[in-house]
Amino acid sequence: MIFDSLNLYILFLVFIVGTCLGSFYNVVILRTLSGESIVFPPSKCPKCGNKLKPWHNIPIISYLFLKGKCAFCKEKISIQYPIVELLTGLLFSFAYIKFGFNYVTLFVLFCISCLIIMTVTDLK
Ligand SMILES: [Zn+2]
Repeated sequence: MIFDSLNLYILFLVFIVGTCLGSFYNVVILRTLSGESIVFPPSKCPKCGNKLKPWHNIPIISYLFLKGKCAFCKEKISIQYPIVELLTGLLFSFAYIKFGFNYVTLFVLFCISCLIIMTVTDLK
């Protein structure tokens, strides 16, 4: 793959999409284990129960900005969140670098997603 500015721009977008999906996979992992619905209720702090604001939900950045603590009660946020977000973003980026932008990549991204969800669920 040639790293011209267009490809780097797409690579950056692929990484961002990966981190957002990684954020969603965290929800899938935790709520599947606890038997809750994936779509409802909206994200809240497990300790103080305050609903998270949209800017508390930005992958990786919010964790760093909040220094790994709940914005309301300062309870520690699990390191699992930024790790899964970063891992998904990086693996999506590698898949794009390796396979380019085509149907094979979509299949690979699907496999990566399933593997991340299954691996982290098993670890927990
Ligand atoms: Zn809290």
